[in-house]
Amino acid sequence: MALIDIQVPDIGDFDEVAVIELLVKPGDTVKAEQSLITVESDKASMEIPSSHAGVVKELRVKLGDKVKQGSVVLVLEGQAVERSAVSVEREQPAVAQPAPAVASVSSTPNPQPSTHNGQADLECDVLVLGGGPGGYSAAFRAADLGLNVVIVERYATLGGVCLNVGCIPSKALLHVAAVMDEVAHMADLGVDFGTPAVNIDKLRGHKEKVIGKLTGGLAAMAKMRKVTTVRGLGQFVGANHLEVSETTGTAQEQNGSKKVIAFKRAIIAAGSQAVRLPFMPNDPRVVDSTGALELKEVPKRMLILGGGIIGLEMGTVYSTLGARLDVVEMMDGLMQGADRDLVKIWQKMNAKRFDNIMLKTKTVSARALPEGIEVTFAPAEEGGTAPAPQVYELVLQAVGRTPNGKKLAAEKAGVAVTDRGFINVDIQMRTNVPHIFAIGDIVGQPMLAHKAVHEAHVAAEVIAGELQGNKELAAAAFNARVIPSVAYTDPEVAWVGLTEDQAKAQGIKVKKGLFPWTASGRAIANGRDEGVTKLLFDDSPEAHGHGKILGGGMVGTHAGDMIGEIAQAIEMGADAVDIGKTIHPHPTLGESIGMAAEVAHGSCTDLPPAKK
Ligand code: FAD
Repeated sequence: MALIDIQVPDIGDFDEVAVIELLVKPGDTVKAEQSLITVESDKASMEIPSSHAGVVKELRVKLGDKVKQGSVVLVLEGQAVERSAVSVEREQPAVAQPAPAVASVSSTPNPQPSTHNGQADLECDVLVLGGGPGGYSAAFRAADLGLNVVIVERYATLGGVCLNVGCIPSKALLHVAAVMDEVAHMADLGVDFGTPAVNIDKLRGHKEKVIGKLTGGLAAMAKMRKVTTVRGLGQFVGANHLEVSETTGTAQEQNGSKKVIAFKRAIIAAGSQAVRLPFMPNDPRVVDSTGALELKEVPKRMLILGGGIIGLEMGTVYSTLGARLDVVEMMDGLMQGADRDLVKIWQKMNAKRFDNIMLKTKTVSARALPEGIEVTFAPAEEGGTAPAPQVYELVLQAVGRTPNGKKLAAEKAGVAVTDRGFINVDIQMRTNVPHIFAIGDIVGQPMLAHKAVHEAHVAAEVIAGELQGNKELAAAAFNARVIPSVAYTDPEVAWVGLTEDQAKAQGIKVKKGLFPWTASGRAIANGRDEGVTKLLFDDSPEAHGHGKILGGGMVGTHAGDMIGEIAQAIEMGADAVDIGKTIHPHPTLGESIGMAAEVAHGSCTDLPPAKK
């Protein structure tokens, strides 16, 4: 037995990537090709597989480390075998560049499909597994294109995470929080509404009503399109058959009744679920985003585990309702992925909500005490410090979401699922099995509803094209250049494409157009001039001074409603003149986009003259 250094192999275009997950520990026996760690760049998450079989002697990386080709991941006691390739989970499209034209590479071996010999209770052209934004959009588009569609969903309503326990209920509560904050701010402007009296039951009822309206609308639209909805837990029993175990109630209780559906094509849209840290006690005071949205009561002290969008949005709601917040984040900043200039402003505006912002800190254990959940922290980096254990009335776990790929018996259909539960697809959303497609959270980051919907339309169109011999539809592909992100906090933070740090890391020379909202008439009139709009244009010599927009972002009220314009500018290859010469109405916050472009171009007259 030899001691072997397992290194990061060639990872293509990526210079340095962050370790976001350790999949093995010392003492574990690993097989050749088994995934060891997950790394993430701004464009993709990748699992690094082992090139050898053996026993892990020593881990040489920890969470948050930056690694590159040649970095030693771990030391293995084992026998030499062939070096493997890196498993690349579905890449996001390159920032402000055409999406890759080839399928993602997978080291996951393709399973042999089972054969289902029994009868089918239902037959369809397209079977859609999962009724979230990906699933219902795929089903509706396929039906609109003339296909016979069945959608299988384990819960009572369509809409998935987004409508039932995600985007929509969180925004219903965030809207109320934003109005409360706005009203409190009015006192500074001379109108004092006094201290608000919150009826939490009524507020919860409002949120439920919003969900009901939207999910009811989906059920009606499914009916209008003659999409058959089958309630139950679906699992593949063959390459063209899915078995559905009927579920009832608000949860997923199975009543023993089963149905088999035969399909020509399938679209897997089974989504994701919140990651639960294994050491967190099973206690009602420890919740994930779904539990937090139940809004049972407002704690005095709340810990948010994970400084990402979901945690900070929920934190905003609870803090406005009266909770004091702590947040713990392993990385060196909150809201990873957003431009640091924007996050800095957000953090300054939100400092009042937090007692402690613990960066480069990890949570290592927790125990339930009568007075609350006691949480113990440790530094995420060697030589760092961490605060003493703290007790909280509520702990929100918002450390990420994990795909549901391993729960579908996908191997019986021959569909390969990665160790982490993702399903790799090509740009037509096709899995390794040519007649089975996958979309949404289950195919990779970013886990966002608008990405799922666009992928859904592609899958449905490709299928319709193939079944109906329509070449144009059959050539559909997901080739978006960029996918915008929004934190619906107060102020909102929205960004799309390249950030300044990413440009620097990738050696891309950019020209910056920064428009502070202190010069926006509308923002000043609104009493909310803390915002900034920032655009980045290609400033490489090849651009000859007419560089296209590569990225942009905003922090400020309604930033999320405006980011679409920057995304469209990137998709259309606009330059600073295109954006600056587009007449934006005055006085609007959207004007700040035109003005940021003018700043980059050197023609802005709403700011003091640029220093020569
Ligand atoms: P899902 O919405 O997860 O839907 C999958 C569906 O499949 C589920 O209904 C599930 O019950 C069903 N299913 C799974 N397995 C089976 C099975 N075996 N049989 C039958 N049914 C099955 N995104 C945004 O873009 N904007 C936001 O503001 C936003 N806010 C969010 C806030 C929170 C708190 C959370 C948790 C998420 C938020 N997201 C947001 C993310 C967004 O909800 C997801 O990206 C989106 O729902 C993914 O859609 P999907 O169709 O891939 O999967």
